[in-house]
Amino acid sequence: MSDAEVWKVCSACRNPIRLGAVHWVCSVSTCNRSRMALVFCTVGCWDSHLSTLRHREAWAVEARAPRTAAEAAAIVAAEPAAEAEAAPRRVVTGLPTPSPRSASPASSDKVADDEVLIVVSRMKKYIKERSQMSTSDAVAEALTLHVRALCDEAIRNASAEGRKTVLDRDVPRRR
Ligand SMILES: [Zn+2]
Ligand SMILES: [Zn+2]
Repeated sequence: MSDAEVWKVCSACRNPIRLGAVHWVCSVSTCNRSRMALVFCTVGCWDSHLSTLRHREAWAVEARAPRTAAEAAAIVAAEPAAEAEAAPRRVVTGLPTPSPRSASPASSDKVADDEVLIVVSRMKKYIKERSQMSTSDAVAEALTLHVRALCDEAIRNASAEGRKTVLDRDVPRRR
């Protein structure tokens, strides 16, 4: 890779982002001010900046670097109006974080990796009514693994179609 092909370096890990490359930017406008716009080579790198900047609500936005050095220069000259043109393929693929429960640091706003995503009381009631059986607490965690995988697949499907909204049809059909 020659220096001429490098557009910017990742704001987190300093790896080069080449001209025309898909990369990630932050959904928060203050992270996209023309002077110090943050760019990330992976969603993981985007995620790492959350530990230093407190965002109430943020997600990673897919973007494409300008294809040529001339295009990049034209965009810089036209800032900030050309921002939308600089990243025509904007797609949300991260999970928007929910509103904070309290004024705590950004890290605790996030859905924890093992957080249960179903309504446990309703699930237990359903099983009870259908079968007279009681339900172990661990069932909620096992079901959450399925919900999480289905949500991730739906996100990928919406992203593949360039949408910012996950629709019911993005959710894989029940087998
Ligand atoms: Zn990076
Ligand atoms: Zn940010």
